[in-house]
Order: sequence, then structure tokens, then C-alpha cells
Amino acid sequence: MANNTENKEPAKKSNFIHLQIEKDLKEGKNNGRVLTRFPPEPNGYLHIGHAKSICLNFGIAEKFGGKCNLRFDDTNPTKEEMEYVESIEKDVRWLGFDWEDRLFYASDYFQKLHDFAVKLIKEGKAYVDDQSSETISQQKGTPTRPGQESPYRNRTSEENLDLFQRMTAGEFDEGSRVLRAKIDMASPNMHMRDPIIYRILKAHHHRTGDKWCVYPMYDFAHGQSDYWEGITHSICTLEFEVHRPLYDWFIDQLMNSDYRPRQIEFARLNLTYTIMSKRRLLELVKDGHVNGWDDPRMPTITGLRRRGYTPESIRNFSDRIGVTKVDGMIDVSLLEYSVREHLNKTAQRVMGVLNPLKVIITNFPEDQDEILEAVNNPEDESMGKRKVPFSREFYIERDDFMEDPPRKFFRLAPGREVRLRYAYFVTCTDVIKNDKGEITELHCTYDPESKGGNSPDGRKVKATLHWVSAKHAVKSEVRLYDRLFNDEDPAGHKDFDFKEFMNQDSLQVLPECYLEPFVKDAKPLDHFQFERLGYFNLDYDSTPERPVFNRTVPLRDSWAKAQNNK
Ligand code: ATP
Ligand code: MG
Repeated sequence: MANNTENKEPAKKSNFIHLQIEKDLKEGKNNGRVLTRFPPEPNGYLHIGHAKSICLNFGIAEKFGGKCNLRFDDTNPTKEEMEYVESIEKDVRWLGFDWEDRLFYASDYFQKLHDFAVKLIKEGKAYVDDQSSETISQQKGTPTRPGQESPYRNRTSEENLDLFQRMTAGEFDEGSRVLRAKIDMASPNMHMRDPIIYRILKAHHHRTGDKWCVYPMYDFAHGQSDYWEGITHSICTLEFEVHRPLYDWFIDQLMNSDYRPRQIEFARLNLTYTIMSKRRLLELVKDGHVNGWDDPRMPTITGLRRRGYTPESIRNFSDRIGVTKVDGMIDVSLLEYSVREHLNKTAQRVMGVLNPLKVIITNFPEDQDEILEAVNNPEDESMGKRKVPFSREFYIERDDFMEDPPRKFFRLAPGREVRLRYAYFVTCTDVIKNDKGEITELHCTYDPESKGGNSPDGRKVKATLHWVSAKHAVKSEVRLYDRLFNDEDPAGHKDFDFKEFMNQDSLQVLPECYLEPFVKDAKPLDHFQFERLGYFNLDYDSTPERPVFNRTVPLRDSWAKAQNNK
């Protein structure tokens, strides 16, 4: 289903979930059907952890010739919004997956769930509890100590039915009553101790409007939704393992049937230097610590997209990290490696100068332009070549020059010759300074015989610099990003708020950068490698007068380096 097959992706690894599905298929379960689902709650934007779940669920469908549903688990109207629904659909599509006509909402099942609750009440398997949720949780007991039965546990079916109907009609205040399943207050599984299945919420729902003032709990909706959709494999994160007996109990009460979605749990993705909780991400957005959900420093899909990540790189990352049963922490540099790897193969190369220093070639004709030829992507010849204008005045990076260079600095210095990429050999003759002693300009001479950057007589230079012709340059803003947190596990400190670990220097804005004219026609999200500097893409904030570029990742590859040093 991945809709971009132009770039060969690494062969998909098999994981323990695949093996289980293979086994089910061999045994003829579900008549050979495979149906998974991705079930987000629309209470925030998706993050890279969700991407793992999306790739896993849609990937399974792809691998086994099955299908994958998109289902919004929209059981909590107080936190959910249409904006989130729309963003989630967009993000899943962007990742390259298609749910076709199988878009569902838990709210589609509100009536069926309510009917089921009524059935449980009639069968004496659910009761209305008039206690507050605090009292109820105090009575829950501990894993080793049984819970305490509610004084309302033994109400008659008639009374329960009457109360539940009045709850549904809006007669009671929020929090004054709940409906609980009557299971076992002494069960060693805390989730089986008469869990709350319905609560009163007088809130407007983004789809059902004001129709309901009682809403099912997530646990009461999830398993039945899977069941009604005919899900064969219900993949979820490890914390739901202990909920499984409860989901099974509900289905047992609902239907006498052999068919049962098989729940398989896997370890959620945790990334170093990253937080992965919608609640915390929302806090960053609401309190203005970042510029919205799509801030390029956010681990949200929309943030990663804006930052310049590609769907392929996220899918490859997800495949690379695999699926396990043990919680762990993945090094964020592996994610960076994945995007670098994909962009290396696909990104258009250009030259751009981020911290400009003007250079004048004193022996170059005043009004002459030259058109030079540059390779668009050395990894992919089919991308061809482009024309790059050269003239008497150009910019280089300020830190490619040192007036008084230490021994290991091989780039430009007074009296020294270097190569300008694709252009000429130049030698620095003069350093021009202002009143304050700051360098404002360099003067050089060039060797006309070294056109294309080729040595005319076999003499060697130790450095090749990128440059941009001053009069042809596209002046741009460039935004450089660093990690949003300077702690490996910002949410993992009991006594500190995760925000204490925010990196105050995670955004650096360079207002005056000069780029090769090739970028003039770039469209938002177009990718480039600025030679020697990293991968960049055009930001949505761009205007024709003022292009804005984001740095996706620098070129330096800390992950591959770490692997080599092992
Ligand atoms: P969060 O804890 O970030 O708020 P959530 O689990 O509440 O996330 P849901 O909308 O319920 O968010 O998640 C939808 C699906 O994505 C679920 O199946 C969930 O298991 C999966 N998922 C969420 N976070 C991760 C993660 N970090 N790694 C893998 N899967 C995840
Ligand atoms: Mg959840």
C-alpha cells in the first residue's frame, strides 16, 4: 500500500507478530482473512511513536494481502476535536498508507454500545454506582488485597435500568453516577474489579453533537469495536496486556462466537531526547514552548514533515527498529540516520552560504558572468547536471577563512590557494577590515586555467569550498534546529517536570543566507542538500521575496560513527 516505490527500501524484516499471523493463517483461522486497524484517539497530533504503529498495522496488511482500518477511538468528547481527526488522516496518508473506504469511529458504535450496556444490566452484569470515582478507586484494593464491594452493587436490574436510562436522559450531574460491569472485586487482575463502563459527560461530541450525555469508557468501546469490524489481529502496546481478560469478558457477554480478534502486544517506541505523549506535546503547544504542532522540532509527524523528513525515511526507520516485547529506548540518531540515508539518494545538491563572507576576485573581469556545470546528485546520475553562475564577487562561509590559521586548518587563509567547487582555484591576497577590526571582505586572485575546479598542472590544494555568486544569490532565511531537550529521557525524572530539560538553543535563525539561484523555483517541502552543510527543505513560511529553509539534519552522521567505533 505504500504508494512510493521509486526508491528501493530495505527488505522488510519479519517480527514475532508476523510469525503469529503466519501461524494463524496456516491453521486456517478467520478463513485466511487478515484485518488490522490503527486506532488513534483524536486528542492530539500523531507522533513518531504512532508512526511505528501505523507502519506495523498497515505493513501487516500489505505483507499478508489483508487490509487495515483507520478507526478513531473518540470516546472522550472533552479532549477530542475535528482538527485532530483531519490531521491524523493527513498524516497517515502522507506516510503512504490507504484505508480506502474503511474509516470508522468508535462513536459510530455508541448506540450499539449503549444497547449492550442495557443488555448487561438486564442480565445482572452491570450496575449503577452512585459513588464518586474517587471513592470507587479507593475501594479498588491492591493487586494483593481484594477490593471492596460497592454498597450499590446489588441493586435490582429494574432499578439499574431505570437509573441508567435517567443518566442517559441527562437527569443527573456529571460525576454523580457511573455504570460499572459486575465482574469480581477480588480478581487478581485489577481491571476485572467492576470496571466503570459508562460515565456522565455533558459535553458536545465532535461527531455526535449533543445526542449523548453518557459516554462509554475506552475499555468498553475498544474490544467491541474490533469485534464489530471483524478485526483479526488487534495490535496494541504492552500496557494493554492486562486489559485483555476484560476485553475477552465483554465479548463473551456480547456474543457466543468462536471468532475473537487476537490481541498482540508490542513495546511502544521511546526515543532519546524526545517526549512521546500527546498530553505533554499538547502542553508544549498550548504554553507556547514551540510554535505549534508542526514546529520542526516536534516529534509529531507534521513537525517531522515540515522539518524535511520523508515518508520513506520514517517507514525505513520503523522497519529498522523492529518490534519487540521489551520496553526500551531507541537512539534518536537512528531516526536522523534514516532520513540522511534517504535524502542522500534523492536530494538535489545546491550550494548555499549560511554565514557569508564576501570575496572579490581582483583579476576577474568586472562585468563577466560565467556559467559552470554542477552535478545534481552524485548518488544518482539520472538527476543530471545544472548550471551555476559564477562572477567576480561571491560569498563563502565565514568559518572557511582564518586570518591566522592553526596547523590543522587547511581552508582559506592569507596567501593560501583553495578550490572553489565546480569553479576555479583561488588564492587569498588581501584581508579587508572595518574600523572595528572585523573582516568585511577578502580579495583573491584566480587561475583562469583551473576552470571547473581542475588543477591545470597537477598542483594540489587541500580544501574545496562551496560558494555562491553574489549578484545571482537568492537571499534567504535559514533555520537550524537542535534537539528540543538536552536530557536523554526528559519525561523520566520523577522529581522534575519534563520542561526543565528543554534546550533553550534548539532554534537558531540565520536571517541572511545566500543560496544558488537554482532554489528559486523550490516549492514547500522540496529537499536539497546544501553541499557540506546538510539537508534542507523549503518551509511553508516562505514567500517569493523571502524564502525560508529548514535544516532537516546536518551531514555529520553521529549514528554511523558510533556504530563504527563499537
Ligand atoms: P500517547 O500516550 O502518546 O498519548 P496514546 O497511546 O494515548 O498515545 P492513541 O491515540 O491511543 O495514543 O494511539 C493510537 C495507537 O498508536 C495505539 O494503538 C497505540 O498503541 C499506538 N501508539 C501510541 N504511542 C505509541 C508509541 N510510542 N509506540 C508505538 N505505538 C504507539
Ligand atoms: Mg491511548
